[in-house]
Amino acid sequence: MPVTVIKNADWVIAWQAPPGRHVYMRGVDVAFDGNTITHVGKNYAGPADSTVDGGKRMVMPGLVNLHSHPEHEPAYRGVREEHGLPNMYMSGLFERSQAFYATDDEFRAASAEFAYCELLKSGVTTLIDISPAWNGWADLLAKSGLRAFLAPGYASGRWKLENDFELKYNWDEQAGKERFEAALKLIDAALQHPCGRLSGVVSPMQIDTCTADLLRASRAAAQDRKLPFTVHIAQGVSEVMEMLRRHGKTPIQWAAEVGLLGPGTILGHAIFLDSHSWVRWWTKSDLKLIANNGCTVAHCPTPFVRYGQILENFGDYLRAGVNMGIGTDTTPHNMLEEMRKAAILARVAARDINTVSTADMLHAATVGGANAVMRQDLGRLAPGMKADLVLVDLEVTDMAPARDPLRSLVYHAAERAVREVYVDGRQVVADFKVLTLNQADAAGRLAEAQARMLAAVRQRDYKGRSADDIVPLSLPLLC
Ligand SMILES: [Zn+2]
Repeated sequence: MPVTVIKNADWVIAWQAPPGRHVYMRGVDVAFDGNTITHVGKNYAGPADSTVDGGKRMVMPGLVNLHSHPEHEPAYRGVREEHGLPNMYMSGLFERSQAFYATDDEFRAASAEFAYCELLKSGVTTLIDISPAWNGWADLLAKSGLRAFLAPGYASGRWKLENDFELKYNWDEQAGKERFEAALKLIDAALQHPCGRLSGVVSPMQIDTCTADLLRASRAAAQDRKLPFTVHIAQGVSEVMEMLRRHGKTPIQWAAEVGLLGPGTILGHAIFLDSHSWVRWWTKSDLKLIANNGCTVAHCPTPFVRYGQILENFGDYLRAGVNMGIGTDTTPHNMLEEMRKAAILARVAARDINTVSTADMLHAATVGGANAVMRQDLGRLAPGMKADLVLVDLEVTDMAPARDPLRSLVYHAAERAVREVYVDGRQVVADFKVLTLNQADAAGRLAEAQARMLAAVRQRDYKGRSADDIVPLSLPLLC
């Protein structure tokens, strides 16, 4: 296999095991043979088919994104940023997913291509893509160059609103079972995809829209395949209230009773635990259940903070022993901005600057994610690991002065300094541009797709309103 050497990198974020932590190194070489890292250290003396000048670069591990919905989120630009229902504890999720939706596979392809470009440009090399199955999905992911886990979503029911204060459900258990079987087939096909970078996550959509039987069968199917399992859980106070009404248990407690919690389980969001100030339920056992069962939490701050909601708090979850990972959930799919928000919001929630560190955020966005998808060969720069690398340009003005380049990247420059990205040893971003996809072309198709979505809103909304009625523009349109 061809050997690439990044020679004399100014800074490298390398993996030191033991004790199992990221560390800085300076003036070292990083070599990879095909898709595998073979050397991180001084004075590489082996063969090299190509050499990259590492001066003015920081080489770091690619980021692992545990939660995203590329097939529709970019089409929500200008729609979802300030949309929420006060009577639904501020969440806009239930109203929006009823009124605004992906209309067709061309919509999904445009939205996903746009999102994959955002992801690569912010240093994501591994992605969990939670989407309803659509034609062309696996091939587009393969083309993107990303390392990807397809998580085809399905459920036994859907949310149904008839007003702005009561969360109701439309159930169709048989359809849920059929979509579950189809999802497994899609995952099994992804594992066989010739690109060799695709895998799957078994993904019943929400804890409150799936029957116990469907959830149990889903977790068993994931364990049979030695694949991760994920479900949205504790993502809204309305959901918590519904589960207390149905079962006398919080969503987390009911998930434990059904047998969903354990290693390999990734809990999407898990914000509204019984300890959260918006829930204030008496049991105070949710966090321990998550930690003691070895689960991961996929934390995505942006969609929640737009409603005024925050996790309480990231540092407490870490200290309880939860494997924390980070995802983007909505657009922009910018993992570096999510790391920054996660750090700052944890400190706001805790009223404590020391509750989390920048190192904690990097760990969550790399090793935490890799552990969640059960891949010990990802998220770390060390010999034997996969060659998933991000090269940060230290000469970008937003990085200056780069005394501590990780802080410059997370708190200041973000994706503006991500110059080159390699996945599986293959370069997919060069000179800040994605080589594998065309974001500008996708943006044009995305605008047309959004217009189709907005035109369909009146037929879906529970009051027959238009998109502009539900989400007015941010400023009055004078002429
Ligand atoms: Zn989600």
